[in-house]
Amino acid sequence: MNQRACPCGSGAAYADCCGPYHQGAPAPSPEALMRSRYSAFALNRTDYLLASWHAATRPASLAADDNTHWVRLEILESQAAGDQGRVHFRATFREGRRWAVLEEDSRFLREAGHWYYRDGEASWQRLKPGRNDPCPCGSGRKFKACCGVA
Ligand SMILES: [Zn+2]
Ligand SMILES: [Zn+2]
Repeated sequence: MNQRACPCGSGAAYADCCGPYHQGAPAPSPEALMRSRYSAFALNRTDYLLASWHAATRPASLAADDNTHWVRLEILESQAAGDQGRVHFRATFREGRRWAVLEEDSRFLREAGHWYYRDGEASWQRLKPGRNDPCPCGSGRKFKACCGVA
């Protein structure tokens, strides 16, 4: 598990990327925290999702979700100024044969050296990849030769 590629898509091993943050190391930037939260969604680490959520907006609980497969993260823009940060990202996911993209402009706050997710403006869009379209997972292959294989 620790040697495998990190779910956030950085290209690094999980143990060298989001893994340490899941173990409690402070993420150095809003973008690093965002990536680690994406990985936590992908790995169903609801404990980490709650721990990295700011107390002001944190839900009381989060249900594990085995139906949603997170397949691609794209960071469009990220910035930090003092103890506030923003990350604009796009996350592609699949539920069975249904594909969608979540696009969110998230806000982060730093307290006592730890960044926390505060809230964000999110929108969802359904994807309907055709057989010859580029696969939404970002592999560069055609959908029919990648995730679209029945
Ligand atoms: Zn990662
Ligand atoms: Zn694919």
